[in-house]
Amino acid sequence: MKHCDAVVVGAGPAGLAAAESLASAGIDVTVLEAASHPGGRAWSERWKGYLLETGPHTFRGESEALWGLLERLELMDEVEAMDGRAARYILRQGRLFRVPNGPLDFFMSGLLSPGSKWQVVWGLMKAGSLEDRSVAQWMERRFGTEFRRSVIDPMVGGIFASDSENLDMARAFPKLWQRTGASGRVLPSVLRSASTGGGRRGVYALRGGFGQLAEAVASRLGSQLHLAEPVSCIEVGSDGSYHVCAASGAVYSTH
Ligand SMILES: Cc1cc2nc3c(=O)[nH]c(=O)nc-3n(C[C@H](O)[C@H](O)[C@H](O)COP(=O)(O)OP(=O)(O)OC[C@H]3O[C@@H](n4cnc5c(N)ncnc54)[C@H](O)[C@@H]3O)c2cc1C
Repeated sequence: MKHCDAVVVGAGPAGLAAAESLASAGIDVTVLEAASHPGGRAWSERWKGYLLETGPHTFRGESEALWGLLERLELMDEVEAMDGRAARYILRQGRLFRVPNGPLDFFMSGLLSPGSKWQVVWGLMKAGSLEDRSVAQWMERRFGTEFRRSVIDPMVGGIFASDSENLDMARAFPKLWQRTGASGRVLPSVLRSASTGGGRRGVYALRGGFGQLAEAVASRLGSQLHLAEPVSCIEVGSDGSYHVCAASGAVYSTH
């Protein structure tokens, strides 16, 4: 049996961030990862000279915690600001539509029918309900089915690689959820966020790919990270300690 203060299962972004902050606080942490590389879905591959991101390829600048992590890992020189206004397209019924960049663009766009556009404008002012838990319900109640299907579904598909019916609004869009509060009105929230901002604005990428982040945390963790070590069971002892069993037969125990 191997002893440590904490065991983290999975070396995806969540596990690596947790392990890095535990290790920085002087806690003896062991990370067990099933795959042969760290990073989980946030990983990069090189192919014929191209950089391929297997998951996310950009991050938003609002999170001070992420900037702190990048600084501690000495990755600030790798950060590249992306052009947030670069054209993005949605494929709908065999046609590519440019995602509108502002109010005028929105009204000129052929992405939505005129009825749906007015529903969006009205939805910005309309009260919603805190009972709308999924992203699909929340968006559809305010802005209608057409907007949800044509704009929100492709957007959340690109961000979360999931669908809007399976995503919880409070967790997927925590700021919008908190700011709209009990009234559920979107317009005051949008105006508030435009005036207060907070954090660095914009969208950023890492020149060498997201895998750099995982590799940097992995190298900091050194022998505390075990790759190709899938966890098969977790048991809680009568004294509250955890016994984490790996498929290799090793057991990691917290004190
Ligand atoms: C194409 C794509 C694009 C994306 N774009 C964005 C984006 O733009 N912005 C954004 O915020 N998010 C994006 N995401 C989502 C983002 O990748 C995930 O939210 C993030 O990876 C979740 O991190 P995680 O650590 O919780 O899980 P994961 O990344 O899934 O990592 C979990 C880790 O746990 C390991 N594991 C699982 N079971 C065991 C076990 N029994 N024992 C040991 N290890 C185990 C897995 O091997 C894996 O390494 C995207 C995802 C995809 C696929």
